Amino acid sequence: MDGSRTPAYEKLEMFIGGQWCQGGDGKSEDVLNPATEQVLGKLPHASKADLDRALQAAAKGFEVWRKTSAYERGKIIRKAADLIRARADQFATILTLEQGKVLAEAKMEIAGTADIIEWYAEEGKRAYGRVVPGRLPGLRQTVVREPVGVVAAFTPWNFPGITPARKIAGALAAGCSIIIKASEETPGTCIAMARAFVDAGLPPGVLNLVFGVPNDVSTYLLASPIVRKISFTGSIPVGKHLAKLAADGMKRATMELGGHSPVIVFDDADPVKTAEIAAAGKYRNAGQVCISPSRFFVQEKVYDKFADKFIEIAKSLKVGNGMDADTKMGPLANMRRINAMEAVVADVQANGAQIQAGGKRIGNQGYFFQPTVVTEVDEKSKLMRNEVFGPVAPIVRFKTFDEVIKRANGLEYGLAAYAFTKSTATATAVADALESGMVGVNHMMVSTPETPFGGVKESGYGQEGGVEGLDAYLISKFVTQIGV
Ligand code: NAD
Repeated sequence: MDGSRTPAYEKLEMFIGGQWCQGGDGKSEDVLNPATEQVLGKLPHASKADLDRALQAAAKGFEVWRKTSAYERGKIIRKAADLIRARADQFATILTLEQGKVLAEAKMEIAGTADIIEWYAEEGKRAYGRVVPGRLPGLRQTVVREPVGVVAAFTPWNFPGITPARKIAGALAAGCSIIIKASEETPGTCIAMARAFVDAGLPPGVLNLVFGVPNDVSTYLLASPIVRKISFTGSIPVGKHLAKLAADGMKRATMELGGHSPVIVFDDADPVKTAEIAAAGKYRNAGQVCISPSRFFVQEKVYDKFADKFIEIAKSLKVGNGMDADTKMGPLANMRRINAMEAVVADVQANGAQIQAGGKRIGNQGYFFQPTVVTEVDEKSKLMRNEVFGPVAPIVRFKTFDEVIKRANGLEYGLAAYAFTKSTATATAVADALESGMVGVNHMMVSTPETPFGGVKESGYGQEGGVEGLDAYLISKFVTQIGV
């Protein structure tokens, strides 16, 4: 073990062309534990020569992997999922140390990570094409599905297990090779995942893992003709920037960007039960979730009961180090999120809102912020207009169906939306009316391996999960043939 590393944390390395390595020009950065601000380890950065090696390795890896049968590919991918399950405790510890979420949530994320990988191992065998009847006797028209080629993927720090898993397993199941730049702030989980794929027997070059200055790495990789597809999860501004780079090389792209998910609670819903579900959803991973419920519209008759219960839960949540057994909400992932929460609270207060719970940073070591609830919020405040990505919940009233739909659809986001009602007619109408990639009615579990996950409007394009998730890494080739 290298002396500078926290015990139980992952050894920080890159993986290029089947070899674990440090950066060619010796550059690195510290990875911090957000609960303590202590250094967990030193993360190497890729030099340009390292990125060139990764590109060449991925090109060679693609030639090997595309010729491996989907059945054989599935066996290796499936084995990686099994290894992740067998190592789940080790994975969850790494995840909590580097990202901050409570250990129980980290364990759930690792279980979900293995499930995603296993699901793609199976789905890769079903990349079916079709036969289209010809217009002439003896004309045979087939549509075959082929892997798109080398993939460049970029993942953020909020789900260091699930997000890389979706991209790696989706690409590999389709027969693509991949270069992934996981988040520099939470690299350990993806490194541990890469080790599982290596131990499962993945050939060299098929999976390459690099780190560096995000914009330097993405600009360099996207300029290469070797890369044929990009998959990004992160903020809307960065997504737009990468989409432009992808367009320069006419590369396919999947963009999983931000959201500002409305939650509509109708008069006929149970306000207390709904508040329990909503608060659990809101404070999961301290609100740093792209599908986090984040604008709570409550119809007048149930407003008080809903708000009272939500506030009571926020006040009672134990915030602390995610490794402690009694912690219910961990720290934010970095100091940028603390600064963002302070700015958003100052803005709503200046606009006349009432802070009903929380509103402040906790202590000055570790990035802890109080679970916060705000009422009497002006619709023009930053909290109601911009993605929050933290534990601050605005609760507002509404009167009619048409009015709340207009307000819910009034932003450029369209990732997830939620509604609570006992009426089937209202449930159907609200699901139809919401401009959103995913709609949860009476619950909030909109992310599973087998269902499509992705947004509309500025929340992005393309989907991960479900048959759509495999499709993202496939092209359709039309072959028309006639006897001579
Ligand atoms: P950011 O916009 O700087 O970065 C977001 C992610 O993109 C990070 O993982 C970062 O490493 C990566 N990134 C940044 N520039 C890049 C580039 N040029 N090429 C490739 N990757 C690049 O912001 P941040 O402070 O890390 O996060 C704040 C905001 O990002 C949040 O408010 C939220 O809107 C968004 N975010 C969204 C998700 C999501 O799941 N959709 C995840 C994390 C962050």
